Amino acid sequence: MKAANSILSGYGTTVFEVMSQLAIEHQSINLGQGFPDGNGPDDVRQAAHDALENAPNQYPPMMGVPELRQAVAEHGKRFYGLEVDWASEVMVTSGATEALAACILGLLEPGDEAVLIEPLYDCYLPMIRRAGATPKLVRVKPPHWDLPREELAAAFSARTKLVLLNSPMNPAGKVFSRQELMVLAELAEEHDCYVICDEAYEHLVFDGLEHLPLMTLPGMRQRALKIGSAGKTFAMTGWKVGYVTAAPEILATVARAHQFLVFTTPPNLQRAVAYGLTKEDAYFAALGSELAAKRDLMRDGLSRIGFEAMDCQGTYFINADFRGLGFTGSDEDFCRHITVEAGVTAVPVSAFYAADGVDYLARFCFCKEDALLEEAIDRLARHFG
Ligand code: PMP
Ligand code: GLN
Repeated sequence: MKAANSILSGYGTTVFEVMSQLAIEHQSINLGQGFPDGNGPDDVRQAAHDALENAPNQYPPMMGVPELRQAVAEHGKRFYGLEVDWASEVMVTSGATEALAACILGLLEPGDEAVLIEPLYDCYLPMIRRAGATPKLVRVKPPHWDLPREELAAAFSARTKLVLLNSPMNPAGKVFSRQELMVLAELAEEHDCYVICDEAYEHLVFDGLEHLPLMTLPGMRQRALKIGSAGKTFAMTGWKVGYVTAAPEILATVARAHQFLVFTTPPNLQRAVAYGLTKEDAYFAALGSELAAKRDLMRDGLSRIGFEAMDCQGTYFINADFRGLGFTGSDEDFCRHITVEAGVTAVPVSAFYAADGVDYLARFCFCKEDALLEEAIDRLARHFG
């Protein structure tokens, strides 16, 4: 047989799937892959049920059902003061994952460069490379993950077509500050490029911090593509419903990719998400405050055992330095070790780098029932004695 595509065949199975399978095999508490252990809000699930029974189940419009596109536009106005024309500036996708793919495939071509911030979410690099573009990586470093202004500026060139920004950032748990975003915005303007903003965790922000879409900064309304994820906002990660907001000409290009990737997304889920996005402010506020309490529980538990738990300003994840426990292997070894020997699974942070990444941090997912988090801490405490 002739060789398959050399870029994709060079990647293994994603770390999330590998660790989840390992967790199943060893019946460990899975704090690896990021998903809540609840089943999402009853009323949003009921809305999906009602739509499944009472609304059409045939192909919805390629851009998404109007009620969801309207709801995304209204959500942008309510939370960020964005003025968005739902008909020309919002598209529904099959999760943030497909939104990312459509943005990347729609905008990039061979010869282009894309600036990315490492550590990065797993699908960014393969998709950028598959689009034929060259990634230019800039690292933010633990424990504070500050954006290095000069290194960032040096990553730009006349070929830079786009920047991919993830805030709140997986796996760092970092929320980019206004100042950092201003630096990025200036560079994007100077080099005339697009900015794909993966804001999957937009409502999962803690300690009174504010998530600021780059799109709200001066000059960015015409350059930024804002991506959201219903899976995260409604705590049902299996619901692959995402949305892109961008200026009409940009969105039209991204829609060309979307129409050939998936064309559309299940209509009942779209209608339920439309309902969900109109929920009261208290719903959205509680997402952050409830998760922050779980973060505290996890951070305090890990610290008591001897981990050095990093700050976490948002997302589902907290990183912990395990070197103080006397473990001398890599982060991959460590995550396997605790799965098999302690009955708790985490994800190695080195998986979020192209090569030679930080290899002494384990990422723990804390969007779980308190009792489960406590049990995981007990197991780790017993193991590390
Ligand atoms: N971006 C980031 C940073 C993520 O962590 C995830 C995973 N949840 C996604 C995108 C994908 O989101 P979705 O499940 O909506 O495709
Ligand atoms: N975003 C999730 C995480 O970081 C995983 C999503 C997936 O498994 N593809 O854990």
